[in-house]
Amino acid sequence: MEFVDAIVLKSLDYKDSSKILYLYTEKGLLSVIAHGVKKMNSINRVLSQNGNLIRITFTKGNFPSLKEGELVNDYEMIKSDILSYTYLNHIMELVNNTISEDLDHPKMFNFLKKIFKLFNDLVDPEMLSFIFELKLLYFLGYGLNFKQCNICDKNEFLVFNVDNGGLVCKEHLSFNQESFDSDIYIQLAKLYFIDINEFKTVDLTSNQRVIIRHIIDLLFDQYVSFKTKSRKIIQQLQKY
Ligand SMILES: [Zn+2]
Repeated sequence: MEFVDAIVLKSLDYKDSSKILYLYTEKGLLSVIAHGVKKMNSINRVLSQNGNLIRITFTKGNFPSLKEGELVNDYEMIKSDILSYTYLNHIMELVNNTISEDLDHPKMFNFLKKIFKLFNDLVDPEMLSFIFELKLLYFLGYGLNFKQCNICDKNEFLVFNVDNGGLVCKEHLSFNQESFDSDIYIQLAKLYFIDINEFKTVDLTSNQRVIIRHIIDLLFDQYVSFKTKSRKIIQQLQKY
């Protein structure tokens, strides 16, 4: 029997005692029906909780159902912190709603597990989310350019602009376009290029955090056209 590792992105009630689990695995998104999982004495109850890493087997076919499963990690520390847990949900909503079939899922799945582990070590959740969101853009095919002007390849007098997906020189910036100077885009590039295997905190001032949040929101508006519900909760918690 083949066991598969999966992250529980979301679960929905189904009939009286069952749930549909929306999972992410090394092979991409997967939904399975977990029969009887809502009963108090079900050994599979723990498998239906958002944000858990589980290992399962399931039936084949169009609507697979859960056969056996075990908990691998419930990331207890994340769930004890409201801001961390909200950011985790923000990330899981993005995975559930933006990732298409033909992407490099093993790579994304491993990256997610590493990000979850850092969350559970109570690393700054906002910074982890910035990193995840920027890398997700790249993963979805919207890589950002931090090298030279997108239009003329000049290396001087550069600013970051969302419409151009990266740097442009001041000559090629349209007069009505919002732009960000090097004090911001250097930090943005550090987050974008960070190696998650050797994670080191990027020092950000509170002002830079607000601006970087704003830029990432603009990028997602423009290129992905998807907003999470958790983003609104983050806004209530952090005021931006
Ligand atoms: Zn230029």
